[in-house]
Amino acid sequence: SIENIRGKVVLITGASSGMGEAAAKYLAALGATVVLGARRADKIEKLSKQINDIGGKSLAIAVDVTKREQVKQFVDSAVEHFGRVDVIVNNAGIMPLSPIDRLNVDEWDTMIDVNIKGVLNGIAAVLPYMKQQKSGQIINTSSVAGHKIFGGSAVYSATKFAVRALSEGLRMEVKPYNIRTTIVCPGAVKTELLDHITEVDIQKANQDYVGTVGISPDSFARVVAFAISQPDDVDINEVIFRPTAQE
Ligand code: NDP
Repeated sequence: SIENIRGKVVLITGASSGMGEAAAKYLAALGATVVLGARRADKIEKLSKQINDIGGKSLAIAVDVTKREQVKQFVDSAVEHFGRVDVIVNNAGIMPLSPIDRLNVDEWDTMIDVNIKGVLNGIAAVLPYMKQQKSGQIINTSSVAGHKIFGGSAVYSATKFAVRALSEGLRMEVKPYNIRTTIVCPGAVKTELLDHITEVDIQKANQDYVGTVGISPDSFARVVAFAISQPDDVDINEVIFRPTAQE
């Protein structure tokens, strides 16, 4: 029930836009205390003020998820402020799609750093607290692209398959600590994600597609809220959702 969201301390990375922002607003409206992480400090500070102005509880902390020490600082500061960490949504991610043979090797590296290492850094930072609390929930954003490959998605899909693999491994390991793990796999959602594709043809094809079938990031917010709102002995392991119009 919604009562299982109220009062929880929920950390969200990638909260400066798109699905992270939508989740932050929605969970705050349901009574969670939200801690907003992203690199663009101005964006998350503005969002935090918006939330607090209408009676919600939030804090913005700038973080680059590729920097392990910064992610630890992000989580440590959240715990200093609010005393605990009930949920982390490891949601920060990038999708500079391109066919492998174009050899955009630097983009491969950043995708691996943000999408895989960023998630691992989040897990490493919260686990000591959650083990001690003997409770917690780790929600990782994968993708429909974490289940299948589409044009130009080989490396991106590899990172999202990896998120599913490490989340499932984690799920089995953290039983003794009463920690829940949830993988969320969105389909086409209208966000800033396509802005950073550097291959013009691939960007245009994706903009045309997502522009046509894409749904609101509120879809993600509702899925995350659903997973958190379950009774503590119910663990929603994975949710795949996509636009009704998406193949
Ligand atoms: P956005 O581009 O709107 O949001 C991405 C977020 O990630 C931003 O808040 C950005 O903040 C943050 N981010 C990127 N790099 C870093 C970094 N190094 N450190 C900290 N934060 C970072 O896209 P979405 O909302 O769509 O993306 C959210 C997640 O959903 C991603 O993991 C994406 O792969 C996944 N996804 C998206 C789908 C879609 O159709 N939109 C479909 C399936 C999965 P900042 O730049 O301020 O750091």
